[in-house]
Amino acid sequence: MRINRQDGTVQILDYDPAENRKKIAEAKRAYYDAHKYCPKCGNKNHGQTYMACIFHLGEPFADENRFDCSCGHSGIVDELVAGL
Ligand SMILES: [Zn+2]
Repeated sequence: MRINRQDGTVQILDYDPAENRKKIAEAKRAYYDAHKYCPKCGNKNHGQTYMACIFHLGEPFADENRFDCSCGHSGIVDELVAGL
């Protein structure tokens, strides 16, 4: 995103909300693909809390919702792994 402050106006030159939403959706998908399975047993069927996590492009993101796996392991979504 660039901002032009010439002649006293603030103009966002190359900000496309649809493109931005797409990038966020892609980044979120990549994050959740990498945080899918229980790190102990590799199971995907775990209960989760669904607190909203705000995602900003280019900033570190960690989903801190809790999960409880059927193997007895529990933690936060950020600890889940892409696979064992
Ligand atoms: Zn497990």
